[in-house]
Amino acid sequence: MPGIIETAASCLDAGETGLLHAATALSRILAQCPCVSETESVPLTAAHGRILAEDLIAPLDVPPRDNSAMDGYALRLQDLSDTEGTVLRRAGRAMAGSPYGEAVHAGECVRIMTGAPIPDGADTVVIQEQAMERDGLVHLNPGHRQGQNIRRRGEDLRAGSVVLERGRRIKAADLGLIASLGIAEIPVFRRPRVVLFSTGDELCPLGNTPRSGQIYDSNRYSLRGLLDGHPVETLDLGIVPDDPQRLRQVLEESSRTADVVISTGGVSVGEADHVKQILAALGEVRFWKIAIKPGRPLAFGRLGAGTLFFGLPGNPVAAMVTFVRFVSPALERIAGLGPRPPLTFEVPCLDALRKVPGRTEFQRGRLQPDAQGRLRVKVTGRQGSGILHSMSQADCLIVLEHDRGPVAEGEMVTVQPLPGWI
Ligand code: AMP
Ligand code: MG
Repeated sequence: MPGIIETAASCLDAGETGLLHAATALSRILAQCPCVSETESVPLTAAHGRILAEDLIAPLDVPPRDNSAMDGYALRLQDLSDTEGTVLRRAGRAMAGSPYGEAVHAGECVRIMTGAPIPDGADTVVIQEQAMERDGLVHLNPGHRQGQNIRRRGEDLRAGSVVLERGRRIKAADLGLIASLGIAEIPVFRRPRVVLFSTGDELCPLGNTPRSGQIYDSNRYSLRGLLDGHPVETLDLGIVPDDPQRLRQVLEESSRTADVVISTGGVSVGEADHVKQILAALGEVRFWKIAIKPGRPLAFGRLGAGTLFFGLPGNPVAAMVTFVRFVSPALERIAGLGPRPPLTFEVPCLDALRKVPGRTEFQRGRLQPDAQGRLRVKVTGRQGSGILHSMSQADCLIVLEHDRGPVAEGEMVTVQPLPGWI
């Protein structure tokens, strides 16, 4: 048989309990995630959220020349007295779009507006509130500093410097930064292609009336929401019935085009067997019982030459938690994003929490500020792995580390904000 099925073997990973440590599972997954190699050039208007495929080098200085940071008067500091008022002749105007074309000479100043180039000769800008102009003469007090209120050429970006590094996810400020350099298109990694489907004969698609014993397929919708936050192209195949032949066909077809296949359901004990057979025939797949709650069963492996497969649990909360903890980091790596640990931080917990050492637990929490604006976290109601409502109420996962025991009220806990937190 070409596939490797890891069931009993995974028992070795976590000693007596027979469960794989969450961190081990993640590092094994990441070790198998190559970054896509193809790149494409996209216009800036389509670049938001894409991953930069090459270092971006500034072709010019920004700002391109010294300019005024304030509305006021450009002058030569040496013309001002250190001890008493000075009167300078106003020689002209410099506007943001129309510079003063000449040099500022001794005894002169130039009315200047924010963003206008500093005229030759001038080295200082005095703001208009500190000057008084009458009949073409400008009265100025002493006490100014050379170079004040001037934005220097290249103080934002220097020509030739690396402005943004390969592997960066382009955000709104980056778009402006790139535009300020006059760059209209950037090289980005191709978006990985993701195939998504649900399995389970009990699942009813939206728009149909559930037969007795059926429930609506909800996981595909929460997973699509989570996928939307990634620079991937998603093909949603809907519900694939618990039929070995159909499942085999879907996986075979997907492995020809997809970088990643994600399924939900059908990986728990009792159900997994025929899935295992198919996957083993098509590639290398590992079934792990991970020492986490919720989300114990997870299938991971490769289909065909290079398609990664994630078989997520069917329980709605477990499907989302395993996506956030295992699939998201993998997708980021495949999409070309530089490595980065998930954002976590510590806050006091407003509830006492039950926890047994020996597995990582994720409770759903809501961050809330106290009267001083300091964040604390509160559990969002019942925590069963089928209670999607608690996930909907949550804006973070409370991460209870593998070796940790129960949490007392007020104790510090680690939280990981969920997508959509801000
Ligand atoms: P499974 O992992 O297939 O054993 O499913 C575990 C639980 O999750 C069962 O109660 C399923 O009915 C439920 N479930 C499985 N897939 C979905 C889905 N796509 N949407 C909602 N619930 C599901
Ligand atoms: Mg099922």
